[in-house]
Amino acid sequence: MNQRRRISVIAAAGAAVVVTAGALVAVAANGATDGSADVNAASTAQAPEPFGESDLPTGEPNSGAGPDAAAGPEERALPLSKKRKLARTFVVKTKDPVFFITIDDGNTKNAAALKYVTTNRIPATVFLTNAAVAGQWNYFRKFTAAGGTVENHTMTHKSLTSGSTPLSYEICRPQAIYGAKYGRIPTMLRPPYGNGGYATTAKKTRKAIDATASACGVQHIVMWNAVAEKGSFRFIRGSLKRGDIVLFHFTPSLAGELKSVMRMAAKKGLHPAPLTDYLK
Ligand SMILES: [Zn+2]
Repeated sequence: MNQRRRISVIAAAGAAVVVTAGALVAVAANGATDGSADVNAASTAQAPEPFGESDLPTGEPNSGAGPDAAAGPEERALPLSKKRKLARTFVVKTKDPVFFITIDDGNTKNAAALKYVTTNRIPATVFLTNAAVAGQWNYFRKFTAAGGTVENHTMTHKSLTSGSTPLSYEICRPQAIYGAKYGRIPTMLRPPYGNGGYATTAKKTRKAIDATASACGVQHIVMWNAVAEKGSFRFIRGSLKRGDIVLFHFTPSLAGELKSVMRMAAKKGLHPAPLTDYLK
């Protein structure tokens, strides 16, 4: 049993907190959908190497504190939860014929991509970096209208393992801002570059990330096992498979990439599902 699997098992024993539009309901955690153990069983038989965000196709948000960074009337009380270890999910273990479309950052608000997900009713889980939204909240509201959700990809896209990154600002400010903008506080965090998500993360760093994130409502650290980049795809398991979490970015090539993955899915009898249906 490798380190990540141990973490998953431990995390599954903790308590989770589900927040919907400000309501706070404690529920028992269900680790059944955490698929990190499934990665071990995959043909690669090893922990996934970091890939996908080391060479972002577009410029990263360069501004730290935009207008949304200041405390304001949108500030609301964040849910309190027991500080606990959070599982890292690379792939969802499920018998359902589903895969997951996750789209990061938010730099390019591409009309064709929005039209494609809207027309085809595609549930997209979007991990927004606050600095990349640039005030265009409505674009992402529409983008997630077909069963998707807005989740957390930090304020400014700094690496959470740098040691100098203010974790509560990077992780918890978006919880408050997105909660106010969208009426739902995110439950998932995707760390920029995946840093902090891999089993190689220093224990001290991982504990600091988990403590901060779980204290403001994050229940899952979501990684990925497939990536679309500049129109082409890389799959850890060779091709699109059930339970895959596919990473996209909001770039000009997004619409084409979404069409491509939907073609692959159709050939395999898979359909995209909301990640929130499987990571509760
Ligand atoms: Zn990113």
